[in-house]
Amino acid sequence: MREMTVNARMIRNCSVERTLTIVSDTWTFLVLREFYLGARRFDQIQRVLGVPRSTLSSRLAALAEHDVIAKVPDPERNNRHEYRLTERGRELYLVMLSLLRFGDRHLHGGAPVPLRLTHRTCGHVFQPETACSACRANIEATEVTYRDGPGAGTSPAPVQAQRRRRGEPGAFERSRPSSVSRTLEIIADRWTFLILRELFLGSRRFDQFGAQLGVASAILATRLNRLTKAGIIRRSKYQDLPERFEYRLTTIGRDLYLPMIQMLHWGDRWLGHPAPMILTHQTCGQDFVPQIVCSCCREDIVAHDVRYDLNYALASPDDAASARTPQNTILNNSSPNERAKFESNPADPTIGSSRRRRATR
Ligand SMILES: [Zn+2]
Ligand SMILES: [Zn+2]
Ligand SMILES: [Zn+2]
Repeated sequence: MREMTVNARMIRNCSVERTLTIVSDTWTFLVLREFYLGARRFDQIQRVLGVPRSTLSSRLAALAEHDVIAKVPDPERNNRHEYRLTERGRELYLVMLSLLRFGDRHLHGGAPVPLRLTHRTCGHVFQPETACSACRANIEATEVTYRDGPGAGTSPAPVQAQRRRRGEPGAFERSRPSSVSRTLEIIADRWTFLILRELFLGSRRFDQFGAQLGVASAILATRLNRLTKAGIIRRSKYQDLPERFEYRLTTIGRDLYLPMIQMLHWGDRWLGHPAPMILTHQTCGQDFVPQIVCSCCREDIVAHDVRYDLNYALASPDDAASARTPQNTILNNSSPNERAKFESNPADPTIGSSRRRRATR
């Protein structure tokens, strides 16, 4: 990233950041989202996103390398292949759901949300909620404490992580309106993410952020301003002479904690490092991992048990390119074919047979 000046810095070991590095590449995210909507084939994804073939190839290769998807022979077409989500990829879906939930709740200004989710297990429209694996109650940021886990500490900053792609604003929303995108627009900026993490770890003051992150004052000021405008943090004066301010998460900001711990959990589980941080649910007094449950029946959510209704018309690639089609049309205006397609081709892009898996730590 251009503004980064320090190279061989030590950074806090963080599973959230490791996960975010995977999902916050704009194209990777868009491709993944198509998988969760049921896509399996190269051409299918290419058509919807209008993405250059070489770009799509490289993102699919990267996802396969991270073992999030696997290339398998296409049962319907000789000598062709398709892609399926792996178990790791299916669990990443829970991260997406928690990002979606935050966007639905806070980033649409009361407008209808883009996707309506139906839980096949109970048959009802639902919200994905974050629950404690120990007591099954919903998690609130204020009820969680943490302590160092076996993987706590620092490592040299990887060179790659410093080069987060910026992309044009709104790029995440290409061809589909999306609550996940809106959430990622906030946290995918590397500095913004790191500042948020410090806030969740208890830092409040400008100097603390500066010292913890080794970030230049001008960059820090810009990011804090942006977060304040977005209603994620609020600024209050704690000293008059000289004037000094501290920053606290708002109620909305605290809700970002839920996608953050979901990313933490996924990173801990799948990225091969010992957990840097252990979470305790104060309400029940037990260590926990975050589960995503159905707001209606409280069962764990798994990818293929969710059906989607699009609350917007899907633009054809041509329309998407010229942005002629309004994308916030209500469900009833979307093409019946498109709706039928998603209802008859639900997200069941799974391989292997394990249907459900509870965290057992
Ligand atoms: Zn239900
Ligand atoms: Zn609990
Ligand atoms: Zn349910």
